[in-house]
Amino acid sequence: MGTVDFKFGTLIRTGPKLTYGGKWDADLVDWRIDQSTNAYLTIFIRIFFAKIDPAGPTGTYGDNDDTAAHPSKKPIQKWKHGEFEHYVRNLTSSAQRFWDGQFWLKTPKTYDGLNYLAHGRPAYRCNLYCKLDLKAVSRADHAHYTIAVVRAQDGVFFRSNAVLYSQNDIKSDQRIPGSTVKFWTHFHEVGHLIGLGHVGTGGRTNVHNDNRPAAYGVTAAEMQDVMGRGHARRDWHATPWQQAAEAFTGVRVANWKVFQHHIAPERV
Ligand SMILES: [Zn+2]
Repeated sequence: MGTVDFKFGTLIRTGPKLTYGGKWDADLVDWRIDQSTNAYLTIFIRIFFAKIDPAGPTGTYGDNDDTAAHPSKKPIQKWKHGEFEHYVRNLTSSAQRFWDGQFWLKTPKTYDGLNYLAHGRPAYRCNLYCKLDLKAVSRADHAHYTIAVVRAQDGVFFRSNAVLYSQNDIKSDQRIPGSTVKFWTHFHEVGHLIGLGHVGTGGRTNVHNDNRPAAYGVTAAEMQDVMGRGHARRDWHATPWQQAAEAFTGVRVANWKVFQHHIAPERV
């Protein structure tokens, strides 16, 4: 029997002390590496979805634009039987599919902590495969985030945000004027949960808490970014995994080159 060496442990990040606000756990699993298998760097996010039902069959609920000075109460209704559970399953599985296994980080030659040994000698330098494990949990105190979800009445526009969703947020819409490029709110919002800000101007400025129109991109390429108004994945979206990689290995974020395709372990 071999021994399993959890040399990298588990990284637990909490909100306020972070530069970019992503709250999650991560682990780096290197005990399955070989000449063709990279190490897995997994970000874990657990969400408690709080089901919002009106007291009666219908009611109202404030959306993102709701303030004391400018109330924005929208008509909502009770979730239909099984509808909420179906929504939560759809949301978590499709957002995980969007972000999971899309990025690879190339281990720099200066780092030997991910070497695969053959006959006791370093033979291959393995890279990091970036994974996301996104699940709904049934208790708020077991979750990284609590997100309230309303069932807006059909045909009502309910403006959601990172902690308040409606049943419409797993449907696509179009937000780039004159373009057919689609946008899915839940891909974008889970990007925020991982720790990404808006695309900003300049393509990858990662601007947080900036909701001015320019934060969603100015050029077509910027607007097509999932952290703008589209659904394109870009290399800069791997930043949270690069930060985890730095925490585990000491190799700085900038030295983890990002790829959006598989990169094989390299001979040492
Ligand atoms: Zn946003």
